[in-house]
Amino acid sequence: MTCTDFLAKLTDFFDGTVPPDLMAEVEHHIAECKHCEVVLDSTTKTINIYRDHELYDFPPELQQRIHSKVMARCAGLKVPAKR
Ligand SMILES: [Zn+2]
Repeated sequence: MTCTDFLAKLTDFFDGTVPPDLMAEVEHHIAECKHCEVVLDSTTKTINIYRDHELYDFPPELQQRIHSKVMARCAGLKVPAKR
């Protein structure tokens, strides 16, 4: 998966409509790519702001999964990212 592929799937990702096999690729890409991790993080924050205003229906379990993912990555930031 490339960054372009990831960005193309970003909406589906937040809608929770990414098929499980593709989801594994998405998660793998996020784990390897700092750029997309930041994109995902900022998008998540944006959606959370909308959620606070009840403009966006967002599955809580998906939010929890993304949150765990981001926190896990933050905890591992001292490890140099692969280029
Ligand atoms: Zn990327």
